[in-house]
Amino acid sequence: MTTGKINVSVENIFPLIKKFLYSDHEIFLRELISNGTDATLKLKHLISIGEAKVEFGNPIIEIKIDKEGKKIHIIDQGLGMTADEVEKYINQVAFSGAEEFLDKYKDSAKDSGIIGHFGLGFYSAFMVAEKVEIITKSYKDEPAAHWTCDGSPEFTLEPADKTSRGTEIILHIAEDSLEFLEDSKISGLLNKYNKFMPIPIKFGTKKEKIEQKKGEEVAPEDVDNIFTEVEVDNIINNPNPAWTKQPTELSDEDYKSFYRELYPMQFEDPLFHIHLNVDYPFNLTGILYFPKLGSDMQIQKDKIQLYQNQVYVTDNVEGIVPEFLTMLKGVIDSPDIPLNVSRSGLQADGAVKKISNYITRKVADKLKALFNENRADFEAKWNDIKIVLEYGMLSEDKFYEKAGAFVLYPTVDDTYFTLEELKEKLKDNQTDKDGKLVVLYAGNKDAQHSYIETAKEKGYEVLLLDSPIISHLIQKIEGDNKDVTFVRVDSDHVDNLIKKDENTISKLSDEEKEILKTSLEAYIPKAYSVQLEAMDSQAAPFIITQPEFMRRMKEMSQSGGGGMFGMGNMPEMYNLVVNTNSDLATNILNTEDKTHQEHLVKQALDLAKLSQNLLKGEALTAFVKRSFEMIK
Ligand code: ADP
Repeated sequence: MTTGKINVSVENIFPLIKKFLYSDHEIFLRELISNGTDATLKLKHLISIGEAKVEFGNPIIEIKIDKEGKKIHIIDQGLGMTADEVEKYINQVAFSGAEEFLDKYKDSAKDSGIIGHFGLGFYSAFMVAEKVEIITKSYKDEPAAHWTCDGSPEFTLEPADKTSRGTEIILHIAEDSLEFLEDSKISGLLNKYNKFMPIPIKFGTKKEKIEQKKGEEVAPEDVDNIFTEVEVDNIINNPNPAWTKQPTELSDEDYKSFYRELYPMQFEDPLFHIHLNVDYPFNLTGILYFPKLGSDMQIQKDKIQLYQNQVYVTDNVEGIVPEFLTMLKGVIDSPDIPLNVSRSGLQADGAVKKISNYITRKVADKLKALFNENRADFEAKWNDIKIVLEYGMLSEDKFYEKAGAFVLYPTVDDTYFTLEELKEKLKDNQTDKDGKLVVLYAGNKDAQHSYIETAKEKGYEVLLLDSPIISHLIQKIEGDNKDVTFVRVDSDHVDNLIKKDENTISKLSDEEKEILKTSLEAYIPKAYSVQLEAMDSQAAPFIITQPEFMRRMKEMSQSGGGGMFGMGNMPEMYNLVVNTNSDLATNILNTEDKTHQEHLVKQALDLAKLSQNLLKGEALTAFVKRSFEMIK
């Protein structure tokens, strides 16, 4: 037996490791299983190049809990190590690696969310163990070795009698980490970190029902007896997850079932998937899913998961995936994402920027393909995906450039146009006298019903644009299309929405208009600015409108960014449009009885408020009461 002292400058590195990654103690298991996986894959490689002349077989990695002995065993059938290799790789490489890691990152640890995911490798075992043993037998014809270390820099190394190839790591769990001896704890960790690792991982056994009388006819009463229970290895992972395969090997159903495998608690199918697969200039694979974005709380919980070579790293992909796509689900797997840097470092990293741009481009290309292949289906899904796309147009210029090809503008009657189609469709009837194309839209079909109807009577198309960020997007589209302006249907009376040259003749003289205006202003609250318009005599006599510009700016500053500073707190501004050609206007003007005049004005104002959904509370109660009085 040899004993020795590991050459490190810190007298005792282990308390430091423990303290340093306190919240991430659990990663020890992932690290040790990763080492076992690497050892197995290395052996496979050596065999394939003729370097190792042994049978590969069907190696697995086994995790065993010894509750009484307070031990966890991690056993692999990989290439193993000779005593010399243990000396070299464990005592020197791993130790210096751990030391270097601590030196380098202990200061930046606080500002980084991802740093805890960076493996300390083998030495992370000491985060939960007070003593660690390695019993290992190399694939080479050399005796097995047994290494023991209790956390101080002293270790022992002696021969062992292990005859089978591979490495067994034995963790003597420390008193403060006994929770890791619970089956449920370990199986939770395996499920989180190792679910898709490439070598099968066994954790205990399970009972499985197998068919007994294969191929025989079974009478209905015997159905319960055709299965027999057997004890089989409990393999906790899927070593060949969908993202590691070629898209051509996978059917739609395969993608859906992988989604369920990723998110077992998610019962709704995804709308569609995007398979990512690139190996130059960086390596990245993955599958992204567009979920149905409903009022589903699951959205927050099931996030895109980041893997490196099938090892789970994190579900915080901020900085790696463009922000607008963080609402998607799925996995990305890339060994090229540096994990030992802070978030801000990540954003500045050239490779990461390239990855993020690649993802944006792939998503845009996929959307375009879906749109071209099956437009009806794309339209049917529009409501569920629009928020992601609209947000993408606002936040990523590269996406915005491509979005014209598939972003849709639905009408209140569910006809969908691209911007180009819309321009073509509207140009004859909705170009105003200055040559601007006026796109009318509503934000809410019910609340703006009467305005929508009036516009439709004129033969106008009315879009339904109801996303919370729509005012920002409209602003951007107008900025890039100088000949287009968006106007909400309730922002003015219909003749003013799209100003044309035709003038309706006014029934009232200018003098009469003045008198009417004075009478109206006597009864109408200051919050409304009265605007007299000579309109069709059949049009509504009183209409409340909300000027487009003010309303949009206000919405923009309320939903963050853009808009004008401080506009979010401005009171709502309304115009009261009075149709001077209506009978009611004439009536108000000609009434001698002041009480009656007031009555008419107030009732008409309330009706106008009602159709803009503004009549509420006490005012509504009074209105209803007054109206009943009038018909009794
Ligand atoms: P890393 O895996 O990042 O190289 P580790 O500290 O985890 O660092 O391990 C150090 C070295 O010890 C590995 O590079 C490998 O050569 C060796 N090693 C660790 N675990 C095993 C194992 N299960 N089988 C064979 N070799 C191993």
